[in-house]
Amino acid sequence: MTTPRRERMDFDLLVIGAGPAGLAAAIRARQLNPDLSVCVLEKAAETGAHILSGAIIDPRALDELLPGWKRQGAPLATPVSHDSFLLLTESSALSIPHALMPPFLSNEGMYVASLGNLVRWLGEQAEGAGVEIYPGFAASRPLFDDSGALTGVVAGEMGLRRDGSPGPNYEPGMELHGKYVLIAEGARGSLARLLIDRYRLDAESQPQKYGLGIKELWEVGPEVHHPGRVIHTMGWPLGRNAAGGGFLYHLEEGRVAVGLVTHLDYANPWLDPYEEFQRFKHHPVIAGILRGGRRMAYGARALTEGGWQSIPRLSFPGGALIGASAGFMNLPRIKGSHTAMKSAMIAAEAAVAAIAEGRAHDELEGLTGAVKSSWVGRELAKVRNVKPLLSRHGPLAAMMLGGLDMWWAHLFGRPLMGALRHGKPDHLALRPAAECPPIDYPAPDGELSFDRLTSLSFANVFHEEDQPLHLKLADKNIPLEKNLPVYGEPAQRYCPAGVYEIVGEGGERRLQINAANCLHCKTCDIKDPSANITWTPPQGGEGPSYPGM
Ligand SMILES: Cc1cc2nc3c(=O)[nH]c(=O)nc-3n(C[C@H](O)[C@H](O)[C@H](O)COP(=O)(O)OP(=O)(O)OC[C@H]3O[C@@H](n4cnc5c(N)ncnc54)[C@H](O)[C@@H]3O)c2cc1C
Ligand code: SF4
Repeated sequence: MTTPRRERMDFDLLVIGAGPAGLAAAIRARQLNPDLSVCVLEKAAETGAHILSGAIIDPRALDELLPGWKRQGAPLATPVSHDSFLLLTESSALSIPHALMPPFLSNEGMYVASLGNLVRWLGEQAEGAGVEIYPGFAASRPLFDDSGALTGVVAGEMGLRRDGSPGPNYEPGMELHGKYVLIAEGARGSLARLLIDRYRLDAESQPQKYGLGIKELWEVGPEVHHPGRVIHTMGWPLGRNAAGGGFLYHLEEGRVAVGLVTHLDYANPWLDPYEEFQRFKHHPVIAGILRGGRRMAYGARALTEGGWQSIPRLSFPGGALIGASAGFMNLPRIKGSHTAMKSAMIAAEAAVAAIAEGRAHDELEGLTGAVKSSWVGRELAKVRNVKPLLSRHGPLAAMMLGGLDMWWAHLFGRPLMGALRHGKPDHLALRPAAECPPIDYPAPDGELSFDRLTSLSFANVFHEEDQPLHLKLADKNIPLEKNLPVYGEPAQRYCPAGVYEIVGEGGERRLQINAANCLHCKTCDIKDPSANITWTPPQGGEGPSYPGM
């Protein structure tokens, strides 16, 4: 196919992704210079519709960005009122006293909220400040100038058939350019991945680590609903099979958010994060709240866990990584939206200053250092050994050693154990299936637990079937020739949407990819043991449509 002619638009600042990071950057840029043209591209049909988080929100970055947020009606109406941390066995729960945890893990002063709704509100504030937001515009390809600097992206290409040829409604999309391009695609961004490789941004950092969060929104009875009450758990059901933990947050209007995060460095390929989440809901503490309630939404999203050690170089010629595209999740606090926003604000400040000097498409030198020496870096440095300890020693030992290390950091300003290393990337963590015990998951009961397809109907997923597969296999033979015999093709289990299925018998067996079900969680891009799957954006406006996740 010949290269189609595309319309071109130029901006001072181009931001890819309308999450907390992208919108914070855009707002900050316009606050600093209202004459700048600032554009944000978002792949969801509507701002906030692809956002999935917990969430307990630390308002620190919001306080700095929009100090009048309460008066301006930000949807942070439910302060945390009661906070418990439980160690679960299958039938009991041991409450860990707060006094054992360093004060910086406290949720006092935080808000229980839907990050999706906060992002919708941030979108309104951005538009009010003169930012142009284009939802339904997936940035599919980076554009570089002759010197190799990023200058923009191709976005909004639609109507290609499955074989890649233009269909009757083909739209070539547009070229959008910026003097600086900020990449705010969230965890495991598709452009971010290309740019990290191209500019070797991770040459001096340790591999990024990830978790998969699977979450539901429920409406529960008034007798069990306590707005602001939050529960975090560890232990059962994951036990020794994987690190991770559960959460249940009481929002307003009878709603609770319930979820389980499974760390993606688990070794047993029989583990199924979706089924673990179904079991989690049957724990007496959780079931006692959900039973008799009504499920409203289902979804999944990867989150970063590498923290301090995994922060890559943020700047490159023409732009920067911001927010979860670069990491910044505080794992023991399970919070990353405030650090994502602050990293974005610092990057926007650097870009605005550079534009004021008449610069464009060069590198925002000093950005990585500026973020690391801000409160983002200080916060992450204190908790940096929790993840390596979890990977090495499992949840119980890590809780004790990590607790000691964090207390030390609290009292003396730096962790006792220096900066432990993460080791290998998550896709190399699986052991051969024959060496691991299969895990027998109970059948869903249809009241608290459900099969994948029923759950998917609560994610409002839509993808046009007749378009090129957005899940690219580097080698089509690997699923059957390596992943199936060695690992039992784990994609059948780690994908929370049932996208990957081995179908057929004997010599007729093949991997079927139900791409239309994809939740955009990015787990296959992270966990395939052969690093054979690349997630690319499908047509803009497609994917899940989350109502306030
Ligand atoms: C289960 C779970 C629980 C969590 N709990 C909490 C919590 O309680 N508190 C907390 O503070 N944090 C929590 N986090 C982390 C928090 O959600 C992230 O740190 C935060 O969302 C990162 O913001 P971001 O803007 O960098 O990325 P995201 O929020 O992921 O936003 C990225 C945006 O970019 C869009 N996008 C991606 N690629 C493209 C593209 N190529 N073109 C156009 N648009 C694109 C996406 O659709 C999305 O809207 C949790 C995360 C998960 C998964
Ligand atoms: S196909 Fe990949 S990105 Fe899509 S839902 Fe499954 S694991 Fe997540």
